[in-house]
Amino acid sequence: MKKIIFCILIILLFGLIISNQNNTYNKKYINYNKNWFIEYPHFTNQKINQNLTNYIDSNIKNDDYLFIDYDYINNNTLTMYVYKETNNIATSTTKVFIINQKTKTSTPNIQYDFLNSKLINKDKLIALTFDDGPNHNTIKVLNILEKYNIKATFFVLGINISGNEKIISRMNNLKMEIGNHMYSHSLITKLSTEKIQEEITKTDELVYNIIGKYPTLIRPSYGIYNQKLEKNINRPLILWNIDTLDWKYHNSTAIATKVFNNINHGNIILMHDIYNATANSLEIIIPKLLNEGYEFVTVSELFT
Ligand code: ZN
Repeated sequence: MKKIIFCILIILLFGLIISNQNNTYNKKYINYNKNWFIEYPHFTNQKINQNLTNYIDSNIKNDDYLFIDYDYINNNTLTMYVYKETNNIATSTTKVFIINQKTKTSTPNIQYDFLNSKLINKDKLIALTFDDGPNHNTIKVLNILEKYNIKATFFVLGINISGNEKIISRMNNLKMEIGNHMYSHSLITKLSTEKIQEEITKTDELVYNIIGKYPTLIRPSYGIYNQKLEKNINRPLILWNIDTLDWKYHNSTAIATKVFNNINHGNIILMHDIYNATANSLEIIIPKLLNEGYEFVTVSELFT
């Protein structure tokens, strides 16, 4: 009898240790829970904002498989976007929350000066480029680009194309340029020549099967390349001049500020169409730069 009680106690103790570990893990990283996650592709986001952590802990249930994205605007307003996922594709926004809304912070972020319109300068060409898509958020980005009737370049990942074919078609219909960002976002320097070729070809074929055209440019994943890649491509290899660090900030005003502080004729701006904060930043960036006389062109147009 004593042995049985002892065994039960050991099992209970073991269970308690396991559940405690889980709790600690979720609170610390909140990247993975049983059914939901907040982990952005390719960039491990270890430092999740505390407000967001608290909000998720108290509001999100584990019943659904959810994808969560956020825009931490001005560091005082946190907008959360929650998507339900089916077959690995997040299809619909289920909720948009705005929390922790405070009055203005002491440091103003960006001064808008639409009244001080400057003369149109024909030499003000810039190229917005978007990596790592397509995903559900690319639609939001395309809607904004279409609204302002401007063009951009999308460096797509082959692995994200399946299920998002309509988005690729729409890019093409809107005269966006489509570039190849490899298939699986692997680090080129760790791949054999054959593997590099495979990464390029797979994405090429997926795009061709949808729009009947091959991607016109190549941007290696992480912007890292070597001679093996240079020897294996027959198209321009395109990096960038301005890195918005949108994947890091998830803050639409910080992304816009980064662009405004560095903008110059001929710049190629690196962004990622897969984040809500990036899409939101376009509503700040585009009207202001249009007003200053900038013309948004594709990367190829920048060089013609
Ligand atoms: Zn990338």
